[in-house]
Amino acid sequence: MPAFDDDLRERLRQLDQVGLRRCLLPLSGSDATRVSSGDRLLVNFASNDYLGLSRHPALLEAARKALLEEGAGSGASRLVSGSRRFHRALEESLADWKQTEAALSFPSGFATALGTIPALVERGDFVVVDRLIHACCLDAARLSGATLRVFRHNDPEDLGKILRRLDSRNAVRRPRVLVVTEGIFSMDGDAAPLRELVELKERHGAWLMVDEAHSTGLLGERRSGLVEECGLESRVEVRMGTLGKALGSAGGYIAGSRLLVDVLVNRARSFIYTTAPVPAAAAAAQAAIDRVRGPEGARLVEALKARLAELDAALPGLPWTTPTGPGAIRPVMVGHPESALRLAGRLRDAGLLVPAIRFPTVPRHHDRLRITVSAAHSPADITRLIDALREAGAGDSP
Ligand SMILES: *Cc1c(COP(=O)(O)O)cnc(C)c1O
Repeated sequence: MPAFDDDLRERLRQLDQVGLRRCLLPLSGSDATRVSSGDRLLVNFASNDYLGLSRHPALLEAARKALLEEGAGSGASRLVSGSRRFHRALEESLADWKQTEAALSFPSGFATALGTIPALVERGDFVVVDRLIHACCLDAARLSGATLRVFRHNDPEDLGKILRRLDSRNAVRRPRVLVVTEGIFSMDGDAAPLRELVELKERHGAWLMVDEAHSTGLLGERRSGLVEECGLESRVEVRMGTLGKALGSAGGYIAGSRLLVDVLVNRARSFIYTTAPVPAAAAAAQAAIDRVRGPEGARLVEALKARLAELDAALPGLPWTTPTGPGAIRPVMVGHPESALRLAGRLRDAGLLVPAIRFPTVPRHHDRLRITVSAAHSPADITRLIDALREAGAGDSP
């Protein structure tokens, strides 16, 4: 067996060699769109704080009150002595907003998936996921012990084939089949063809879980996500999301039936065996929902759409493929890890923080920049980004 340090050093060397080593960039935030790195102030196009709510006075005030009333930590698991009125109030708000019977909050979105999927399916069952599903759902599917099937990205026809095959092979035994997709995909920014997926899963008696991490706060009349925008609230069994993106706080949640929540409270290990979310985070998230649902949310989404339209108008002139979707994510397809790093470096030199996203976060040869736009960006911020992309593109042969 290699000595521990030698083994670790060798792994890092291998990552270095192919341009895939990751490092933490020391940053401090100064407002919703600015971060400082050393003595440099960068415009932040790398945050999922799509509405700029993480710095909103209402969230800060709600968090401060909860902090003073309940302390910095919850002290125990929800089931032991950690369940506080801030958790229950948040869950009532979530359920009302998402138009479901109930909701349950978790310490993070990742923990939400990791607890939920194994609570619903087990060995002998099937989980059928979109090929680009987030790592947390993939890991959760594997952890569940169910057999994993993968359908081509956003391809209902391929999903249909898989479901038909499962039907014919399992005509007698009837295993559970859970289909998992995202509302807006985190690295590509495109939306799932939800109506078609719902029709398919209903035809085959399967269940559907939608991870609304990137559509919550942005889509639908109440801005509760893609499921609401498609009018499918009563037809999606499991809606999942994070409180850490457009809602500007931290934590994750499931929204669904009372039965679903009762089962999760009894079976989701990442709910049961973990300290309850920080009360201040729950209170801030609830304040965010209040804002997002109301006229202020409508104004913020309008501002975000205006900034996105400014950026989208310039994207076709760039030398890369730059797909646009209904959310706030704009990938710039560079295709090679080192080119993605080089391009991100050039943008950083120009005062802009845009992350290079590389394998294994995205498939090999799909390395890219991932621009995220916020309602808090100014038109001048967008112009600066466009100018810097043009300049970097002129010096880069794609
Ligand atoms: C960010 C993200 C998560 C995880 O949420 P956290 O609260 O950050 O743990 C889950 N799913 C998707 C699609 C995400 O983008």
